[in-house]
Amino acid sequence: MHRLTLGDFELTILSDGNYFLDGGAFFGVIPKVMWSKRMQPDELNRLSCGLNSVLVRGAKKTVLIETGIGNKLGERMKKIYAPEEKLLNSLHAVGVAPEEIDVVINTHLHFDHCGWNTVYRDGRAVPTFPNAKYYVQRGEWEYAQRASERDRISYISDNYNPLVESGQMELIDGARGLLPGISVDVYPGHTQHLQAVSLESNGKRACYISDLIPTTAHLDIAWGMAFDLFPLDTIASKKRFYARAVPEDWLVIFTHDPKTPLAYVGITNDGKYVAREVAEKSERSAV
Ligand SMILES: [Zn+2]
Repeated sequence: MHRLTLGDFELTILSDGNYFLDGGAFFGVIPKVMWSKRMQPDELNRLSCGLNSVLVRGAKKTVLIETGIGNKLGERMKKIYAPEEKLLNSLHAVGVAPEEIDVVINTHLHFDHCGWNTVYRDGRAVPTFPNAKYYVQRGEWEYAQRASERDRISYISDNYNPLVESGQMELIDGARGLLPGISVDVYPGHTQHLQAVSLESNGKRACYISDLIPTTAHLDIAWGMAFDLFPLDTIASKKRFYARAVPEDWLVIFTHDPKTPLAYVGITNDGKYVAREVAEKSERSAV
């Protein structure tokens, strides 16, 4: 677990555990001889990937960015993904009760990003964070209602529809501020309406970039996932992101990186994007 200070915010990376993704799917058109130098697959070609959420404290609100894979997968899906379902334990370990979460932000609605939005109680999906206001892009939610044959399996409506119906989840349109120092921006590619979450305080900025750049192994412009619905948009969005994140030294938070959930991104003289570990002692400590 990582905890760091960003201006007035305290950020804690909370894990929902690891899960398996197919190595080929995770690296799209990149040959295995190349990606296997960065992440080692098991004998079934699976990669053990992270599920990193962020708890943001210090402002007047307690905010949770992303809610992991959750505990709603059926038996067949559980066999494939092997979810560890740890997020609520991780939250408990830092002394925060689900009732204390004021705001939940989902970057998109794939089941590995909003799984703990709700839990089943007496067969009904109810909010895990009863006092929270949830946010997602309206376009993402609308797409989820009529997802294509290609990615229908990525959506579990009980993760969000009950919240939209009760008014607890607010559907937002495009880039926007949500709270002082906390804003979202849309980066199309993985899905059309994927939103990244930016945190800014005292001149320092961090960005939860979600599936636009899922791990530090995906920093190269062309290293996208096969899951991306709009791979050329992924490339354009990455360029737009780096155009600010690199010169302005944003701290980047990687949703599926099992080892390096956060890093700065630099560029070498020959144009290669590289992760720079967060070195300052005050910014990172084991919890
Ligand atoms: Zn996704």
